[in-house]
Amino acid sequence: MSAYEATIGLEVHVQLKTRAKVFCGCANEFGAPPNTLTCPVCLGHPGTLPVLNGDALRLALKAALALGCEIPPTTWFDRKNYFYPDLPKGFQISQHFSALGLNGAVEYWDEDNYGAVAVERVHLEEDVARAVHDEPYVRAGETLLDFNRAGVPLMEVVSRPVIRSPREARRYLVALRQTLVEAGVSDCDLEKGAFRIDTNISVKKRDAAALGEQVEIKNLNSLRSMEAALEFEFARQVKLLEGGGAVVRQTMLYDEATAETRPTRAKEVRADYRYFAEPDLPAVELTPGYVDAVRAELGPAPAARIRALREGYETTPAEAEMLAFAGGHYDFLAAAAASYAGPRRALVNWLVGDVTRELNARGQALNEGKLTPAAFAALLGLLDAGEINVPTAREVLADLMTAGGEPAAVIAARGLGQVSDAEAIEVLVRRAFAANPKAVADLKAGKEKARAALVGFVMKETRGRANPAVVNDLIAKVMNET
Ligand code: ZN
Ligand code: MN
Repeated sequence: MSAYEATIGLEVHVQLKTRAKVFCGCANEFGAPPNTLTCPVCLGHPGTLPVLNGDALRLALKAALALGCEIPPTTWFDRKNYFYPDLPKGFQISQHFSALGLNGAVEYWDEDNYGAVAVERVHLEEDVARAVHDEPYVRAGETLLDFNRAGVPLMEVVSRPVIRSPREARRYLVALRQTLVEAGVSDCDLEKGAFRIDTNISVKKRDAAALGEQVEIKNLNSLRSMEAALEFEFARQVKLLEGGGAVVRQTMLYDEATAETRPTRAKEVRADYRYFAEPDLPAVELTPGYVDAVRAELGPAPAARIRALREGYETTPAEAEMLAFAGGHYDFLAAAAASYAGPRRALVNWLVGDVTRELNARGQALNEGKLTPAAFAALLGLLDAGEINVPTAREVLADLMTAGGEPAAVIAARGLGQVSDAEAIEVLVRRAFAANPKAVADLKAGKEKARAALVGFVMKETRGRANPAVVNDLIAKVMNET
């Protein structure tokens, strides 16, 4: 174990999935031609006034609740004053003295381990214009601005600096992102800039009380590169300290190509944002009735779903991740389990096996199809009771997924019920013996493999519907006679 330990904090900016921007009526849309979704408000013209979009407030509140935050009874906006070309009005409407949520936590899972990271605050602000450098229409060395992004509702989630390793940072972000996606507040698409990660890391001797000097890392385009950047930065700082050097407080950029962090060229000045309460927007009262109504829309947290699947359904970690989130699997499974008497593991086997194969082949999500949890449970019940065999169950399943309905009705309509009638099967077994003298001789000589030819004959004649146990009993009976 290293004599040094890391202290990591994360700030994540998340674009909210509203139809309109946060303080004007322009569309909140990704990918439109540059500067086509703008108006005097989001362009920052003098004399314009912001009006808060209630949907943005609601989604940010929902996120704060999903992260287990305390919700203040009143919240308001503050001006963060600075000049940068992507913010022509000279200030960002943000929250500083106030927030939408405080003191939350995100539970994360990591294989069989669970942990939690404290969330200091969640607040709502406006996104700024996008600086464009790398499009074909931008001349070398120039920067253009796209104001379609200016005014998109942006939520900032600040963790407490309590994360101990790059891996824990990644597990926290996986859980945070899934929480926000499940809550329906954002798609959290990193490639579209809807989930933007800044992190800071300091290093100290394990037994030291004081934290080390903090280094910020920006430009992290994926969870993988964030983890790699933190690992690189941890090693760099440890090496520096072991060599008797000192870590300088600075902002670093992560270079994907070299997999290294390097200092930004910008001069490091501690910004003074001269925050003050935004005079153009009234404070917002978050009444208990409103907060409770938003809270009621939330489902179980991702880590709780994972835990329920691991412990209640005997899933592997990979199966749990697959079932916890993909297109309604979790709710489907819980509903099916409620009306199924057999082992829950059987439901999981069919869901991750045959059902998923069918869905993939159809390019469909489970909650888009016609299979109901009750029909799925009934189908497995018929299989357990020996009314149908596995090939028939597969056939009926495909039918249920295409056309819906009840399995018993499908089986009756298509004449797929299992044949357990011993007299009928015995006739077929005797024909199998007559048609396969070599297999009969081999089986008599103790070659068990020869049995497959006899069983196969009967299955072919019954289109796979013969009860295998009855077939085997009758093979033994007829064999005794020969
Ligand atoms: Zn606008
Ligand atoms: Mn911010």
